[in-house]
Amino acid sequence: MNAPCDPGAQTPILDLAADFPILSRPVHGRRLAYLDNGATTQKPAAVIEAEARFYRESNANIHRGVHWLSQHATELYDGARATVQRFLNAARADEIVFTRGTTEAINLVAQSWGRPRLAAGDEILLSTMEHHSNIVPWQLVCEQTGAVLKVIPVRDNGELDMAAFAGLLGERTRLLAITHVSNALGTVNPVAKMTRRAHEMGAVVLVDGAQAVAHQAVDVQAIGCDFYAFSGHKLYGPTGIGALYGRAELLRHMPPWQGGGDMIRTVAFDNTTFAPPPQRFEAGTPNIAGAIALAAAIDYVQGVGLARIHVHEQALLDYGTRALAAIPGVRLVGTAERKAGILSFLVDGIHPHDLGTILDAEGVAIRAGHHCAMPLMTRFGIPGTARASLGLYNGLADLDALVAAIHKAQELFGTRGGTASGNGRVA
Ligand code: PMP
Repeated sequence: MNAPCDPGAQTPILDLAADFPILSRPVHGRRLAYLDNGATTQKPAAVIEAEARFYRESNANIHRGVHWLSQHATELYDGARATVQRFLNAARADEIVFTRGTTEAINLVAQSWGRPRLAAGDEILLSTMEHHSNIVPWQLVCEQTGAVLKVIPVRDNGELDMAAFAGLLGERTRLLAITHVSNALGTVNPVAKMTRRAHEMGAVVLVDGAQAVAHQAVDVQAIGCDFYAFSGHKLYGPTGIGALYGRAELLRHMPPWQGGGDMIRTVAFDNTTFAPPPQRFEAGTPNIAGAIALAAAIDYVQGVGLARIHVHEQALLDYGTRALAAIPGVRLVGTAERKAGILSFLVDGIHPHDLGTILDAEGVAIRAGHHCAMPLMTRFGIPGTARASLGLYNGLADLDALVAAIHKAQELFGTRGGTASGNGRVA
């Protein structure tokens, strides 16, 4: 993830839309150009089929049954955990906790690692570009413990201010909670380098990988982080399933954060003992079918190859960046040197929500608004942006449709023919 964008990545190399049934349905009578992958990705037939097959052929509750189906379902669920382990290159399968997604994974760390350990005056370091999911859980734990948030500023081009980061990292920093890729700007942060620095100061590191895992191979051991969170639905898998990677030494000493079945060793009214990780953190019946379909999504993505996906999306990003910068009146927000497939932009004289509605009528699905990153929007002095976010099935035709629809919107608003920003700076 930390290698510079391949300067030679000019040509999209994948043509996989046919694997995704929903992409063949017209929207408003038009061919769908689905460019809202940052919000959620579409699902390949292989994933839809894996979930359906589980219910058709293997459904039973896990861990509790002596009967064959229960054991079979348990094997599939455990197999899914091993698939996630290999996907992230975690050292052990018990370092993978299934959660509902990134949000739940971060809340788990906040409540189970943070709440018992943090004290008044301890510092949690995060950045201006965090998604609300990597802000609000820490605010809650600050209220509970007296810890305080420190915020790494963002430069005009959407990169983190690394000098400020070095200055903010101190003796009181207990945790660095940082996004791998910004959902609003596409910036890829140097998380391995930041982890090294934070560890030198004795801090623990959580990386929010929600926007990273679908775009390039992630290796938690190479990053060196203590926690890594991601959501299945942004990785061509189902909603309601995701995972937290936690280093075994840390997970071992973390108390449960939710109580219930499956997370205990013994229960008595005067003393209850808890199962080891990861079961300790998976109270109640989990999303068994979701975990199995997530493993199918990982198999699909790895079958295509994350290196190829990266090359393909970088070519699209490059094409889209040039095409948008060439439209008079369009300003790109976020022009970091290293970006994953996100194009955030503003069109002079057209509110992002109006733009989103006009684009939708043309069959172009984008997102408009603050992207759950309100502090970042405040930093740039804007209420929101329009955001086109790329997936492995997108092609040049989707970006051409985006550009044509923007022209149409400018015609409708009578704003066509402004000045092209070219460099895309927003300051
Ligand atoms: N972090 C980032 C960077 C995200 O983009 C998102 C989803 N937009 C989340 C966290 C939260 O993910 P989820 O809603 O799947 O829990």
